[in-house]
Amino acid sequence: MSKYEETEVLVVGGGQAGVAMSEHLSARGVPHIVLERGRIAERWRSERWDSLVTNGPVWHDRFPGLEFIGDDPDAFVPKERVAQYFEEYARKIEAPVRCGVEVTSVTKNEGEPGFTAEYTTTDGQTGSIRTRAVVAATGAFQQPAIPPIVPTDSPLQQIHSSQYRNPEQLPAGNVLVVGAGASGVQIADELQQSGRQVYLSVGPHDRPPRRYRDRDNVWWLGVLGLWGKATPPEGADHVTIVVSGANGGHTVDFRDLAASGITLVGRTAAFDGTTMRFNEDLATNIARGDANYLSVLDAADEYIERNGLDLPEEPQARVLGPLPECAVHQITELDLAQAGVTSIVWATGFRLDYSWLHADAFDDRGVPVQQRGVSNEPGVYFLGLPWQASRGSSFIWGVWHDAKYVADQIQIQRNYLTYSSPAEQSETTDHLEKASAR
Ligand SMILES: Cc1cc2nc3c(=O)[nH]c(=O)nc-3n(C[C@H](O)[C@H](O)[C@H](O)COP(=O)(O)OP(=O)(O)OC[C@H]3O[C@@H](n4cnc5c(N)ncnc54)[C@H](O)[C@@H]3O)c2cc1C
Repeated sequence: MSKYEETEVLVVGGGQAGVAMSEHLSARGVPHIVLERGRIAERWRSERWDSLVTNGPVWHDRFPGLEFIGDDPDAFVPKERVAQYFEEYARKIEAPVRCGVEVTSVTKNEGEPGFTAEYTTTDGQTGSIRTRAVVAATGAFQQPAIPPIVPTDSPLQQIHSSQYRNPEQLPAGNVLVVGAGASGVQIADELQQSGRQVYLSVGPHDRPPRRYRDRDNVWWLGVLGLWGKATPPEGADHVTIVVSGANGGHTVDFRDLAASGITLVGRTAAFDGTTMRFNEDLATNIARGDANYLSVLDAADEYIERNGLDLPEEPQARVLGPLPECAVHQITELDLAQAGVTSIVWATGFRLDYSWLHADAFDDRGVPVQQRGVSNEPGVYFLGLPWQASRGSSFIWGVWHDAKYVADQIQIQRNYLTYSSPAEQSETTDHLEKASAR
């Protein structure tokens, strides 16, 4: 069966970005539809590991219009609670979200305004929607990115962090976790606690303190103006940020991970079928992370001093232990079979995938060409991209503000398109008068 309908704005994706977009479009009276292939906030439900909690406390990681009712504001809540929050939010704002509808293509209409979206529903129906504008809100973390180091037909079990659920899912044996960002570190810790020997490959990273002088990292990022920064610091756009809300939230220190029994190694470089090779850069990467950590303490101390705030001093936060033995004498080669490693978890990030969107809105690497979500192609908008407008753009609290800007831009275009000249207006009046005289 085929359906056909029209709207002014089609929002593709019903995660936090799609819900925020809907709120701002409704506030401006812009008719729209949100299509979500799964359920609201699907990625929080089915593309993240079982024990995941938010990286930020929920007084911060939320939209302005609703608190996490019933939760301690300083808590890091389980992923299911986040999905429930966005479902509640969508209900509260009466967002026109249709779940179980996957957009398979969006194409520009030839010789007339707007776009046509084709979709398929989970029960196999197909249909089209004609729309003036499209907002791609399909997330920044879409397709697993795994570096081509180990062949896919290797007997080693290889999964991406987005496919990892819990330790029981992996075959018996030890594990190499590649990538030590927020995901890799938490997964490595959980696997080590489950009784396996874990090797964790650590690249360059920033590791801000979880809390310092009675304030969470998200607060420091806010008051120091870092959430609002428009571009990443020079050379740091690919540096991963290691923070964790696990176990009530704690600062990630690689010394603690080594003390728990994890063997830290440098960046994963190559595999010859037997032996994995690592760059000899672990000590440098840890030192760089330490420097970042200390620089946040310095900036926080300076802010407190300058503003005369009465926040408790915390000199012990500056005491870093010695480098762990595995960093002082780093291994650069590991025979995986000899080490009993049977699986690899690649916590190596994500790629964008807008293969459904046929528009002149991408560079030759498929990256959206946009400014604050407004693309090269009139009528095509993006939401939720990393650094779309600022550091906060791909996070819960930041996307709401970006959506407001995108809705403003849509409204501005809408005003242009409804303009008619005095000649057109009198032509319309004549036409109506003639019609009523008949
Ligand atoms: C492991 C992990 C932990 C994170 N923790 C936090 C945190 O604690 N706090 C925080 O602020 N941020 C966190 N983030 C970052 C960010 O908030 C999340 O990635 C969030 O899910 C992004 O929301 P989004 O709406 O932009 O995209 P998504 O959540 O990816 O939503 C996009 C939606 O689009 C749907 N979709 C995709 N393609 C189509 C299509 N063709 N047709 C229809 N629907 C489609 C998907 O099903 C999905 O529901 C985390 C990210 C990761 C990876």
